[in-house]
Formats: sequence, structure tokens, C-alpha cells
Amino acid sequence: MPNIEQMSHVANSCDGYDSVGTGFQSSIGTPFSKSCENCNHLKNNKCEVNLYDKVLAGLDQG
Ligand code: SF4
Repeated sequence: MPNIEQMSHVANSCDGYDSVGTGFQSSIGTPFSKSCENCNHLKNNKCEVNLYDKVLAGLDQG
């Protein structure tokens, strides 16, 4: 199971990020943070478009 912080880093650098539920943003000013957890491509804790590993490898290389 990937860690939450890592999923957030990946989503922020991911070209394929597709936000789940855009109507969801709160009106109380909480910033909506990108994460694979709220990406439409995450299915059963796996990135169905196989970008996760690719983006993660790119992050590691800085
Ligand atoms: S689930 Fe996949 S497509 Fe979505 S942000 Fe994460 S790596 Fe990118």
C-alpha cells in the first residue's frame, strides 16, 4: 500500500491526474490537495494507466 504523502507528490507531478468529483471542493476554504487517492485512474490501490511508477521514478531522479 503506497503511502499517502507519496501519492500526493506523485499526483502533483502526474500528467494523467484526473480529479474525482470536482463538485466536491469545500466552501470553507480548505485547499483541495491532489493525490492518487482522489484520481479517477486509481482502481483498487493501483494506477490503472500505469503512470504511478513512472512518475515516482521521475520524482526520485529529481
Ligand atoms: S492514480 Fe495514476 S494517473 Fe492518477 S495521479 Fe496517480 S499516478 Fe497519476
